[in-house]
Amino acid sequence: MNKHVGDTMKKETILKFDKSIARKKPNNIHQKKPCPFCVTEGLSELLETQDSIILVKNKYPVVQDAFQTVLIETDDCESELSEYSKPHLFKLIRFGVEKWLEMEEQGSYQSVSFFKNYGPLSGGSVRHPHMQIIGFNDVDYRENLKEDYFIGDEIHCSNGVQLNLSTMPMIGFTEFNIVMNDDLAGIDQAADYIQKTVHYILHHYNGQGCSSYNLFFYHWLGKIFIKIIPRYPTTPLFVGYGFRQVFSDPFVLIEDFQKYSF
Ligand SMILES: [Zn+2]
Repeated sequence: MNKHVGDTMKKETILKFDKSIARKKPNNIHQKKPCPFCVTEGLSELLETQDSIILVKNKYPVVQDAFQTVLIETDDCESELSEYSKPHLFKLIRFGVEKWLEMEEQGSYQSVSFFKNYGPLSGGSVRHPHMQIIGFNDVDYRENLKEDYFIGDEIHCSNGVQLNLSTMPMIGFTEFNIVMNDDLAGIDQAADYIQKTVHYILHHYNGQGCSSYNLFFYHWLGKIFIKIIPRYPTTPLFVGYGFRQVFSDPFVLIEDFQKYSF
C-alpha cells in the first residue's frame, strides 16, 4: 500500500470512513426507499429491546476500528424526539444513557460516543427516529474536549441540572449545553431539557425554526455533558481560519427560548 501523509498523523484524531460500505447504505431522506428501521425482520442483530425501543448492531458500519450500534427510539416512523410523551422520553433517554455507559464499562473501547443526527443538514441518512452508540477501538473523544465548550449563560437550572447557551462553543454560534452529575440523579430533568431544546430549535430558532440538529453526549470529569447544536452550513471563518463566532446579543435568544419553553 502506498504511504501517504495522513499515515503519519496522530491516529487519535483521524477516523477512517469506509466508502464502499457507505455506498450500500439506504438513504431514505434523499431517496424514495422503504424505511430500514420499520421492517424489523430486516434489522441486523438485535442487542436489547425495551417496549418499542430497540438497540441493534449497525448494518452499515462505515467507521473503521469501531463497534457501531443504532438505538431505534420508537416504532412510529414519522415521530420525532420533540413530540414524545414524557413517559416515553424519560424511558428512552434513561435506556440510551444506561446502554452507553454499560458499553463504556465493558472496557473494550478507548471511548464510546452517543449521539443523534436529525434533518437534512445533520449528516443523518435515515428519517426514522434513532440515535447511535459507537465504541471506538483506539480513539478517545475526551482528548478533543475543553471545559470551556460546556460553559455558558444559564437558560434554566433545576434538580441539579443546568441548561446553558455556550459562550465558548466548539464550532460556533448556537450550542446548547446540559450539565449533570454522572450518578444520573438528574436524568429525567436532562431529558426534559433535551426535548425542550430540540423543540425550540425545530420550531422557533431564528424566528422560523431550523430543519436539522445534532445531539451529543459526553462522559467526562464525573459529569455528563450534553450538547445540542442547530445545523446549517458551517461558517467559512471557522472552516478556513478556525475562528469561532457567537451572536453579540445572546440574551435575545435566551429570553425567546424561556418565553416558549418555561
Ligand atoms: Zn421507519
